[in-house]
Amino acid sequence: MTTSTSAEKKFHNFIGGEWLPPSSGTYAPNRNPANTDDVIGHYPVSAKQDALDAIAAAKDAFPAWSSLPAPARGRILWKAVDLFRARHEDLARMLCREEGKTFAESKGEVGKGINLLEFYAGEGFRMHGRTLPSEMKQTFTYTLRQPLGVVALITPWNFPFAIPVWKSAPALVMGNTVVMKPASNTPGTATMITELFQEAGVPKGVFNLVTGPGGAVGNTLVDHPEVKAVSFTGSNGVGLALNERAAKRGIKVLCEMGGKNPVVVMDDADLDLAITGILQGAYGSTGQRCTATSRVVVQRGVKDKLTEALVAGAQKLRVGNGMEAGIDMGPAVDESQLKTDLSYIDIGKSEGAKLLCGGERITDGAMGKGYFVRPAVFSGVKVGMRLHQEEVFGPVISIVEVGDFEEALHAANAVEFGLSASIYTRDANTAMKFVERSEVGMVHVNNPTVGGEAQLPFGGWKSTGVGGREMAQEGGEFFTQLKTVFFDYTGAARTSKIY
Ligand code: NAP
Repeated sequence: MTTSTSAEKKFHNFIGGEWLPPSSGTYAPNRNPANTDDVIGHYPVSAKQDALDAIAAAKDAFPAWSSLPAPARGRILWKAVDLFRARHEDLARMLCREEGKTFAESKGEVGKGINLLEFYAGEGFRMHGRTLPSEMKQTFTYTLRQPLGVVALITPWNFPFAIPVWKSAPALVMGNTVVMKPASNTPGTATMITELFQEAGVPKGVFNLVTGPGGAVGNTLVDHPEVKAVSFTGSNGVGLALNERAAKRGIKVLCEMGGKNPVVVMDDADLDLAITGILQGAYGSTGQRCTATSRVVVQRGVKDKLTEALVAGAQKLRVGNGMEAGIDMGPAVDESQLKTDLSYIDIGKSEGAKLLCGGERITDGAMGKGYFVRPAVFSGVKVGMRLHQEEVFGPVISIVEVGDFEEALHAANAVEFGLSASIYTRDANTAMKFVERSEVGMVHVNNPTVGGEAQLPFGGWKSTGVGGREMAQEGGEFFTQLKTVFFDYTGAARTSKIY
């Protein structure tokens, strides 16, 4: 176990059931984005060889793991559920410290990940195919779900607990062996997950962790002939290139990528409800959620009132170190994301949108050692602007004014992304029309754009997602291949023809 979190502590990769130093001998400091003097530890900057070793270990472990009955695999995950629960606050503390979201948000994310683990532990009892009638007499036809083999999981930093769990739990319970590469910004939470899987009794080689750069480790995983599927969550740039690379080998690949999620507010909306929902959706987790609310499409009659309330709400938020009591919003995850946030403030202004509040870096006192930015609201945003089209991944709201429902629907849909969308209205007909015509994988009514539940499929349309859905039964099915069985029990040669 490598649980110490002292600044000098070196952490390792987990390969074939052992904690091993990286072949490169190189480690990188993991710094708290709220205070870059706070070093959580040093984590491996792995190279190709470490990925190859992890794949070899996962390959060796596959025959025994895949032949263990699925309910028995599920029981090991149940044991992990108990261990994760017992360490809930420790996990949340690590998450808060390395990613920056508030402690309350971190605890919420860990709770959500544990729900997912619980759900998939139970899926061990439900790894079912279907029985279907055959055209032929005395023939039993059915389908079986079987594991794929070694699978690679590549995860982002913004949900460093929930996403590794929602990929690894279904992969494991379905009988695959795993090599996981977490984001370089958040190796600490991934290391704790791995420690707890080990403690729960996941056998040697079944779950392997390799931290390090996407280019070296990620590409090795995607290109290796023993890797039978890749599940990736991250940016569109990386995801689409990875999808193409994996597709050349004809393997299964799932990529969940960016979002640009709108909230539509109609004149008849419950405005208090809409304001609360928009502020939560836009500034929760510092806007660093794939489902974050980044566009507010508002009908003319309530535009001024809504805009005023959003500005007041943004200005009231207490920004600071997420570990401190009373803080509503933490920092950007790193310098690069901070620069991206600030660059979109400049882009918005140069395009002619009006910055009503926020958008500047905060350097007062202790915040000077972190990557803090004040929550921003832009009005006068038009559909063609980059601010309307591109994912910022920071605490920025863009307000677009529209005249009626058709205009609102057009503005909401007129982006390349299709993850989540929401409408606030008291009219059930309007709500149902929006549900039907919204071009997204997840739609909310009178609810923020954020959120997901273990038993509900999660993922996007258009350029947000390729390869299927995560979470729920669908998330498990990705990690299986289907076999159709024809079992003839006539005991004699057929008299009828087979086509
Ligand atoms: P990212 O830069 O694309 O990185 C994601 C992962 O890919 C990291 O582990 C990264 O490693 C790795 N990677 C980088 N280059 C690679 C390569 N050439 N081959 C293989 N792997 C490579 O994304 P991010 O900044 O971590 O995450 C933010 C993005 O994720 C946003 O766009 C957000 O919308 C999206 N997201 C989507 C969902 C969803 O469900 N739709 C959920 C959460 C987040 P390094 O860290 O070492 O670079």
